[in-house]
Amino acid sequence: MHAIDIILKKRGGGELTLEEIRFLVAGAADQSIPPEQLSAWLMAAFLRGLTLDEVTGLTTAMRYSGEVFDHTGLGRTTVDKHSTGGVGDSTSFLVAPIAAAAGLAVPMISGRALGHTGGTLDKLETIPGYRTQLSLTEARRVLVLCGATMIGQTKDLVPADRVLYDLRDRTGSVESPFLICPSIMSKKLAEGLHGLVLDAKTGSGAFLKDPAAVRFLAALMVDIGERSGTRTAALLTSMDQPLGRFAGNWLEIWEAVDLLSNRWHPMYEDIREISLILAGWMIYLGGKAGAPVEGRDLAETLLIDGKALDIFLRMVEAQGGDTSAFDDPGSFHQPKFRREFCASRSGYLAYMDCAKIGWAVQRLGAGRERAGETVNAHAGLEMRAKLGTRVRAGQPLFTLFADDEALFDEPERLLAEAVVIADQPAPVPPLIAQIITAENKNQFLELPPRP
Ligand code: URA
Repeated sequence: MHAIDIILKKRGGGELTLEEIRFLVAGAADQSIPPEQLSAWLMAAFLRGLTLDEVTGLTTAMRYSGEVFDHTGLGRTTVDKHSTGGVGDSTSFLVAPIAAAAGLAVPMISGRALGHTGGTLDKLETIPGYRTQLSLTEARRVLVLCGATMIGQTKDLVPADRVLYDLRDRTGSVESPFLICPSIMSKKLAEGLHGLVLDAKTGSGAFLKDPAAVRFLAALMVDIGERSGTRTAALLTSMDQPLGRFAGNWLEIWEAVDLLSNRWHPMYEDIREISLILAGWMIYLGGKAGAPVEGRDLAETLLIDGKALDIFLRMVEAQGGDTSAFDDPGSFHQPKFRREFCASRSGYLAYMDCAKIGWAVQRLGAGRERAGETVNAHAGLEMRAKLGTRVRAGQPLFTLFADDEALFDEPERLLAEAVVIADQPAPVPPLIAQIITAENKNQFLELPPRP
């Protein structure tokens, strides 16, 4: 088989056979197919779309492109949560230890910054010493010890996603349900899960802007999860503004440690609530609660009584992290420069283009231009006001952080374009728009029209 034939076939709108998909994925995993050919194929798939059989084949081939978890003898039900990509989304650092505190096991494989969205691995790696690249044996040891491990793809663990994820980030082929689904579900199914909660983002900060496309992606992931024996539910949640108080790498660790320590800030309301709801679903799917709302209440108890914090600290230490950085996370945050971005007029914060805000965070230094580049720990922004609030001209809306003053110009331009202040308040989208499960997924599985 030849990669060029597979590229040409997809470019022409043809349907690939399972053998062709496996050839491509194996070539991505062992890097025997060069990045330019993989990138060309990704763009062809992005533009042409894939059939349901192709998406399923791609997901399975990527799942088995390396080793997979075997939880024999673990003695715990395994669950996880994964998002389709958010801005200021630090929920993973809350839900993993909360679910572990409920007696479940969370073998979470995450990714790096992708497009305008932040990456869990980039955030974790701002903790001094924290290792995200564990072998399966090491990850299993942490899981047994702490009930949760948070790691990345490696050359042995979903290596095909490691390569393709990185190429998609740099070649404008991220925002496709046909590529997002295999990327997410290959990692999640390699974890060997009993239950999976998907946070399918909607709104201005989502990769997929069309609500019908988000429903399709969510239903596709639920369908593939369920067909693989994992109880799967997708919550369609609002990404119409950055979640919580901060967006940035260390900033979101600071926020998570604050929340796990029950320290309060008015900007924490949405991130705390959405984390409890997602954790509640994990607890429910893991069989530790009779309903998601009961799971949410148990999640809140485990957060308030400090059990989740204890697990998070133990997990960080087990992965080599120095938890003394958490003693005062605010003073660990030492960006060289900070600047306020203020309201240009008085009125109501009516709309935010959250993807532009995400790009502003990336361009402040939180993201990378090239593969393998180190990201800045302190770059990012603090939310000073949320949608729906009344603001005065000159009032700070964001505080920006960077280590190079020249990096403020582009983010400031992006924020000026992103924020709309109106005379009248606009309705604020609810945190959760819809829930897709095994029961209702089929009605959303209709393939969207191909471009
Ligand atoms: N998260 C992933 O792991 N992959 C995507 O493509 C998007 C979000």
